[in-house]
Amino acid sequence: MTSIPNRYRRSHELFARAAKVIPCGIYGHTSPVASLPGEFPYYAARAKGSHYWDVDGNEYIDYLCGYGPVVLGHQHPEVEAAAAEQQSRALCVNHPGEVMVELAEHLVSLIDFSAWSVFGKNGSDMTTWAVQVAREHTGRRKILKVTEAYHGMDPWCTPGHAGLVDEDRVHIHEFDWNDLEAFDRLLSEYRNDVAGVILTPFHHPVFKASVMPAPGFWSHVESACRREGIVLILDDIRAGFRLDLRGSHKLFGFEPDLICLCKALANGHPLSAALGRRELRIAASRVFLTGSYWNSPPAMAASLACLKIMQRDKTPETLRERGEALMQGLVEAGKRHGYAMHCSGPAAVPFIIFADDPSMRRRQRFCAEVTRRGAIFHPHHNWFMSSALSPEDIDSTLRMADGALAQMRDEKI
Ligand code: PMP
Repeated sequence: MTSIPNRYRRSHELFARAAKVIPCGIYGHTSPVASLPGEFPYYAARAKGSHYWDVDGNEYIDYLCGYGPVVLGHQHPEVEAAAAEQQSRALCVNHPGEVMVELAEHLVSLIDFSAWSVFGKNGSDMTTWAVQVAREHTGRRKILKVTEAYHGMDPWCTPGHAGLVDEDRVHIHEFDWNDLEAFDRLLSEYRNDVAGVILTPFHHPVFKASVMPAPGFWSHVESACRREGIVLILDDIRAGFRLDLRGSHKLFGFEPDLICLCKALANGHPLSAALGRRELRIAASRVFLTGSYWNSPPAMAASLACLKIMQRDKTPETLRERGEALMQGLVEAGKRHGYAMHCSGPAAVPFIIFADDPSMRRRQRFCAEVTRRGAIFHPHHNWFMSSALSPEDIDSTLRMADGALAQMRDEKI
């Protein structure tokens, strides 16, 4: 693989220092091993609108958006003004601020099945709490989830293997996405002991293409949950508000009992939320929920501003249009150079794979080459559109993609 010498020199220097004082240097999903070591920047310096700069001064059109939270573009002036105004009055205080009530009212008015909202900081805070609420409400133990679906880093669901004991997962049972027979089998095997089913609106496993729900999937799951008194939890952390401001279930025509939201909630300010049906309010009030920073008002003010802007500007429509233009352009560029490229997932949360590429070599090389030219594409994780991505950004990205594919063709990759 061709690497430009010194292109990521500062990134590598920092990583060498980090490796001495931080386990793995960079851990989690931003670790270099999650992409292709040496082919992507490791450290970011600053970001504005649809662009960001790494510590070596390289500039990128941003299709990762902080892995999702930045939905309106970096440093959106209205969101930043709302957060700064709150922060000038209080950052971390002894009681929740007025803005928490206002935000809960606003969210409850957006998500029509919900009667209440709570807040945390990260997605995992909410998915783990939601599972407990389901257990508290039903008095049952079992949680059903989809194989390879990511719901966070807590022991019941982490994709990691270290530091766990068998008991962590005794009551967690998995079925494959869209496999309703396997789902039904679990329901009958654990009848009257299933507390909750937690699912993302569509399947977005790492390394693989995203998979949409098969026709009838959601209606089957929804009616089974209703019939059996199981709490249906929608983990809308990744796609929430990018697809539909009323929650992604609206796009797929079903209604959950609980919804977890996080990315795209506050344009990058740390905030997550869970909203639920009236019937779950008592269980929700019993399951303990708190954190040192969870009442901090600036992120909540940022969220209110972000939600109002997304409503005013019909942001999901913009994301879809721009995402479609990008995907179509990439597929056409692929055809011009003799590559069959396949778009997966909704256009606002797009991902591209190459046909006949079981080792992912083409996809990895393509993403690295486009990134080297100035638009960041992750080879293993779905991408995220922001409304700051302009038609000009998309056009320049497509030119970069064209150059990358031409080079790959020449090198017979
Ligand atoms: N659920 C889904 C669907 C996610 O995409 C993520 C984050 N990628 C999480 C849960 C966990 O969120 P966090 O990393 O903020 O804890």
